[in-house]
Amino acid sequence: MGDKLFIEKAYINGKFVETEQTFPVVNPATLTVLGNVADCTVTDCREAITAAEIAWYHWRDTAVGERCALVRRLFELINEHKKELAEIMTKECGKPYAESLVEVGYANSFMEWYAEEGKRAYGETIPSLKKGMHLSTIKQGVGVVAAITPWNFPLAMITRKVAPALVAGCTVVLKPASQTPFSAIALGKLAEMAGLPKGVLNIVTSKDSKGIGKELATNPKVRKISFTGSTPVGSTLIAQSADTVKRVSMELGGNAPFIVFEDADLDKAVQGAIAAKFRNAGQTCVAVNRFYVQEGIYDAFASKLVTAVEKLKVGDGMKSGVDIGPLINQDGLEKVRAHVADALEKGAILRRGGKQIKDLFFEPTVLTNVSTNSLIATEETFGPVCALFPFKKEEEAISLSNGTPFGLVAYFYSSNVYRCHRVAEQLEAGMIGINTGMVSNASAPFGGVKQSGVGREGATYGLEEYLEVKYLCYGG
Ligand code: ADP
Repeated sequence: MGDKLFIEKAYINGKFVETEQTFPVVNPATLTVLGNVADCTVTDCREAITAAEIAWYHWRDTAVGERCALVRRLFELINEHKKELAEIMTKECGKPYAESLVEVGYANSFMEWYAEEGKRAYGETIPSLKKGMHLSTIKQGVGVVAAITPWNFPLAMITRKVAPALVAGCTVVLKPASQTPFSAIALGKLAEMAGLPKGVLNIVTSKDSKGIGKELATNPKVRKISFTGSTPVGSTLIAQSADTVKRVSMELGGNAPFIVFEDADLDKAVQGAIAAKFRNAGQTCVAVNRFYVQEGIYDAFASKLVTAVEKLKVGDGMKSGVDIGPLINQDGLEKVRAHVADALEKGAILRRGGKQIKDLFFEPTVLTNVSTNSLIATEETFGPVCALFPFKKEEEAISLSNGTPFGLVAYFYSSNVYRCHRVAEQLEAGMIGINTGMVSNASAPFGGVKQSGVGREGATYGLEEYLEVKYLCYGG
C-alpha cells in the first residue's frame, strides 16, 4: 500500500501527531487489523479548534485566487495519487477497488469544481429606494467549520464539505468515521503537500465520536457544523449546536423508493436498479430500499432483476472482477439478516440469495411480494437486498413512496414524458432520478427534505452553505 499516504496519526495545526491511546481499524474483507490510529481526546479536539480559529484570521484574508489555486493543486495531487487512495479506501471500507477508483474521481470532482466556483462568490448592488444611500452585499466565509463524516464514502463525503469550505475562506476541523480514518489522513497529507497553511485543515481521528461530536457542536469558536450520517446523530448535533446558534448542514438517512411503471424500458430499469441498489454492497444513503413495481410488469421485472443479480460477484474488493464487497461490520450484517428474516416471516418470497456467505459477506438478495409492514419498508437496510412490492395505480406508488419520514432521493422509470413530470413533482425527496439510478455529481445540489436533512452539498448551493451575506449600507 502507498507508504507515503498511509499514516496512522491525527493532523492538527499542520503536524501529524501521535496520541497516548490508539485504536485499531479493521479491514472488513479480511478481518485483520489494517492499522492503529491516533485516538484523539476532547482536549486534542479543542486544540484543533483553536488552531483552526487562529488559521482562519489569515486564511480569510488570503486572496480568493490563491485559495482556489491551492484547492486546484490539491485536485492535481489527488489525481496523481488516485491508485494509492483507492487502495486505502478498499482496505478500510471494503468496497471493490474499481468502485474506490470511481469514488476518488467523484471526490476529486468537488475539488475541481469548487476551485472554479470559489471565484464566483459574488455579492450584489441593490438599487436604493431613497436618495443618498448606496446598498450592496458581500459574501464572506462563515469561519471555523466542523465536519463529521461517515465510513461509506470515506473520501467523497469529506471533499464535498472541505472543498467549498476552503475556497469560501473557512478553516476546518474534520472528524472522520472511526472505521475509515485513513482516507481522511491521506487527504491531510496531500493538503500538506499542496502547501495548505497550518491549521486550515485539521483531522481529529477518534473512537470517542460522542465526546468529539459534542465538543464540535458546543464550542463557541466553531461557527458551522456540517454532518453526514444517520438521522438520530444528526438531530443530536442540531440540538447540541442550538445553544451557540451554529449554522448547520445535515445530510442524513434515506429510504429511497424506486418505482417501475408499466410503460418503462425494463432493461434500462434493471440496469438502473443494479446501480442504485448495489453500489458499496447497498451501503449508501441513496441506495434503493423499496422497489415499487406495477402489476402488469411485476413478474417480468423481477425475473430480469434476478438474472442481473445472479451475475454479481461477491468477494474481497482487492481481487479483480469483484462487484460486491463485505458489509462494514457485524452490526451491519445483523441488520441485513434481521430485515430478510422479518420480510420472509411476513410472507415475502425469496427469489435469490438471502444468506450470509461467510464473515461479513452477504449474498445479493431479491425478495418479492414483500409486505408493506415489513421492517425493510420503513428502515434503511444498508445491505445488498432488493425488496419488491407490487402496486396498481400511479397514485398508490406515489403515496407509498412518500409514506416515510425520509426524503433524500426517489427514482422512477417511465417512458411517458407527462407522467415523468407529474410524478417528479409529487415525490417528496430532495433529488429525483428519472430513468436513471445515479444522480449525484459535483455540479448538482445533493440533499434531502423531511428527516433526510437540511441544506445542500455540491453546486453553487454547496458553496452558499459556507458563506455569510454581509449587507453594506453607505449613507451620504
Ligand atoms: P453510520 O451509520 O453511517 O455510521 P453515524 O451517524 O453513526 O452513521 O456516523 C456518522 C458519523 O458520526 C461518524 O463519523 C461517527 O463516528 C459520528 N458519530 C456517531 N455518533 C455520534 C455522536 N453522538 N455525536 C457526533 N458524532 C457521532
